[in-house]
Amino acid sequence: MQSNIRDAAINLGNIDARPVTGHPFKVWHDRLMSGDLGKWLSIEHDPAKLSGWPLDEITIWVAVAPTPPIADWPDGCGEIGSFYMCSKQRKERRVAWEKAVVDLGYEIKRGVTLPERAAAIRAGLGVHGLNGLMITPDDGSFVDITVLMVHAAPPPDARGFEYDLSPGCGNCGDCIKACPTGAISENGVDTQKCLRNFMNAQQFMPEEYYSKMGRRILGCETCQIVCPKNAALKREQPPAEMTEYMKLENLLTEPDIESIAKYIALDENQTKMQAAFAAANTGRKNLLPLIEKLVGNENKTLDKIARWAVDYLREVRFINGVYYDEYIFSILKREYKMNYINPSAKPKLIIVAGMSGTGKSTTAQNISYQYRMNGIEHEWYHEEMEEHPIRWANGGEFTVGDLNTEDGIKLNIADIYTRWKTLIEYIKSKNNILVMDGCFDQNIIRYFYPGNYPNEKIIEFYDGLLEILQSANLHLIHLYTPDVAANYKKAFKVRGKKWEHIITDGKKDYDFADMIKYQELALKITGRYSGNKLCIDTSGDDWETYMKEICRFLDLQYYDKQYLFVANPEKYTGYFEYKDDKITESVNIICEDGELFCNPDWFTHIKMNEIGENKFELSAFPMIFEYQFIDNDVYITVSGNYDWGIVGKTLKRINK
Ligand code: SF4
Ligand code: SF4
Repeated sequence: MQSNIRDAAINLGNIDARPVTGHPFKVWHDRLMSGDLGKWLSIEHDPAKLSGWPLDEITIWVAVAPTPPIADWPDGCGEIGSFYMCSKQRKERRVAWEKAVVDLGYEIKRGVTLPERAAAIRAGLGVHGLNGLMITPDDGSFVDITVLMVHAAPPPDARGFEYDLSPGCGNCGDCIKACPTGAISENGVDTQKCLRNFMNAQQFMPEEYYSKMGRRILGCETCQIVCPKNAALKREQPPAEMTEYMKLENLLTEPDIESIAKYIALDENQTKMQAAFAAANTGRKNLLPLIEKLVGNENKTLDKIARWAVDYLREVRFINGVYYDEYIFSILKREYKMNYINPSAKPKLIIVAGMSGTGKSTTAQNISYQYRMNGIEHEWYHEEMEEHPIRWANGGEFTVGDLNTEDGIKLNIADIYTRWKTLIEYIKSKNNILVMDGCFDQNIIRYFYPGNYPNEKIIEFYDGLLEILQSANLHLIHLYTPDVAANYKKAFKVRGKKWEHIITDGKKDYDFADMIKYQELALKITGRYSGNKLCIDTSGDDWETYMKEICRFLDLQYYDKQYLFVANPEKYTGYFEYKDDKITESVNIICEDGELFCNPDWFTHIKMNEIGENKFELSAFPMIFEYQFIDNDVYITVSGNYDWGIVGKTLKRINK
């Protein structure tokens, strides 16, 4: 019955082991050969031919053991995939199982290559994932598969059917979106595009993949990490001693191959090549001298990669999916270069910065949505919310000193630093993530420019502020538009005359020169931040792409924001009012082209999106309107946190 073979596998730490027959793996073979790679391969897929035993004397045993996903490697380290971190353990387990099976009196065939995943799927241990991996019910795709060919008649429960090639994973497509090289499509994985396949064959790697290699030394788990089938798995920290060995400065000079071999065998030159990619892709300019020493290496591929990394670091242009287009790059190149970006470190504080009209609040609202959908505790502070800890608390920002004197500004700066430090203490005590829009570079236009404070001193202020904010692992997202005037003109249309008047001071020939200078200075300030930052030109209004980029930056899974279809928008429109002895508050709701907008007197056209029955979220504002229809009357109850008198009140429709 061979149950003792299964017992031996379980005793060695496998979670399951099952027998299958030795029928040829024809579906797997045909699929492999049909791809481009097929013309280079010659693989035997018939176990009978591989072993020389007749089909009815072959049992293939398949065992699986978990390889827990590894939590992020610390900054400054190269990364090894979880599967590879278990390499030594895996090898030992295989050898021990082989020995145990031989000791039980069975003959086995060593050194034959069988398709492990195909065998495991045939055994019913999991399903085929679109990302090319087998997905098990309990350990997702983070499993190690061991296959053993045993010279014995298959037991009656041995499965012999070829597995179904269609993905049984749910086909959500997240792995397609996440793969850095676009290797995954609805047809599965194109192995010729998969980064993993170049990690031991860098000489064949297309140069366009160099910047996509991130800081991977061995293994790429991107398509597994994003897979919902792995979402519930507990991630483990990499062993502390390995994080020391994997520091890029060590890998670029004398990688401790012997110590690393406790976990995984690495080739020294290939390790240096990957470390050079990693240093370049994480902007480690301080490692340039070490990379330069690799230039001229007798290994031509190492020489080529080192040259590329040196050039790349000197230019610093496109890092880990964060792009800088020519506009921002030309600004930054003049004086301050972006010098370090690491999207993988977990944020505590996220600030969406940029001038008005670039989409800060909409973006912050959507980030909040993404955190909610990812099931992560967080808060969103809109810059106009009541009792905002930076803007309004304790009498308000920039109110303790005269804006027109050096001493006055110094008092204000000290006050601002204290406000932020207090807020960071709060964030740390709650262990929460805080998303904020505004309240950052707006100080330039609101207070520093009116007080004629010089640029170099403004920069000094922000250098100090950024140092404080970095302690909360600030992730700074800077939205900008190259054409400043066009951005404002577009915003005037949406926000109305009152808002336009605030910006232009009522001047018809307003030339936006201050705004242009302000944006340029703000971008420079962001450029000086040595922590995590992402700059996005939002003039294309391609919000889905921007949000995906932001999610990558924040290490979040992206969710499409879906709203309900408002079947009868007219029933929500009209003039609504709240009245008591002291105050009257009102709001007008209109419908245009089937869409609902809230029109307060200080802003036009705030879009209303239906998020539940008779319940609307205001686009870019942290407010919810909930309708009630009682007899012939209509009421809106307003909730949220925003400095507007209607919040917390119920307004009644006065007229349509
Ligand atoms: S391992 Fe990486 S490169 Fe390969 S398919 Fe998955 S995500 Fe793409
Ligand atoms: S990410 Fe989605 S499509 Fe890709 S393997 Fe996982 S479940 Fe399948």
